[in-house]
Amino acid sequence: MAAFTVVVASGKGGTGKTLVATCLARRLAARGGRIAYLDADVEAPNGHLALGATITNTRTISRSAAKIDLDSCSACGDCVGVCAFGALCLVPEGAMAFEEHCRDCRACELACRRGAIIRQTIPVGEIADGTVGDLRFHMGKLRLGERRGVPLIEALRRTVSDRDLEVVVVDSPPGTACSAVAALRDADLAILVTEPTPFGEHDLNLAYGLCRTLAVPAVGVLNRAGLGPRALAKVVTRVGLESWAEIPYDPAIAEAVAANEDPERASTYLADAITILCEQLLARLPHAPAVAMGAVP
Ligand code: SF4
Ligand code: SF4
Repeated sequence: MAAFTVVVASGKGGTGKTLVATCLARRLAARGGRIAYLDADVEAPNGHLALGATITNTRTISRSAAKIDLDSCSACGDCVGVCAFGALCLVPEGAMAFEEHCRDCRACELACRRGAIIRQTIPVGEIADGTVGDLRFHMGKLRLGERRGVPLIEALRRTVSDRDLEVVVVDSPPGTACSAVAALRDADLAILVTEPTPFGEHDLNLAYGLCRTLAVPAVGVLNRAGLGPRALAKVVTRVGLESWAEIPYDPAIAEAVAANEDPERASTYLADAITILCEQLLARLPHAPAVAMGAVP
């Protein structure tokens, strides 16, 4: 049976998404479940720091892009007209391809009658595999200067597709761009982490809209509860989401994270909220959990 995939996402950065994702994954693994954590925040992955992961293997992930064989090109321009991504242009010598804009749709290959479109392989980043106790750990890291995170995130999600896992926790890129779509697509559940600020409410609305578009069920978690205007204290339910947990504002959490210590041990508020979150999630799984939620490991 396929693993239950829960994506921890946020409409903006800095809401505590990685805090929730790493605590959730660690707690689920501690209760004896077969759990994997995927760090899909590929532009700035830092789940390995929060979890203290031991990396055992790294591998390069590449994508394919169009390239022009000028020896075969007649400069007819047919390929340029079919590229919907502006990745081709025509100069007197023939067609030119801009690999950074190429989405590898291969429409130009179909349009070219001279077989002048060939493929090139471009490294986009690497995937690191590792462990944190019984928790499987996989992290995507985008190559410096590479703007396309989607192929890397898709490869990251494939790393656990054939595993005998109970739950896969995906730490999504923030926002609602293509990389967030790649992380959320086909997920069983999205946990949207937000904060009680006007920006938090605005971006939570965007993230919830993306989940609805992708038909991914979503629930909310409010971080730093107690801060901000009173009107935003119930921001999660204000936007129409079911609220699964609130993490009260506690400076001890940030201090523990900065010191590379387990924030759940530093803050009972956080530990209690993660317990509630885990219980909510376990109740949502297709099969009843074998082991009940315990305290902080
Ligand atoms: S369609 Fe083929 S032959 Fe024509 S410009 Fe493009 S690459 Fe060159
Ligand atoms: S493969 Fe698609 S996106 Fe890339 S250059 Fe050809 S038509 Fe454009």
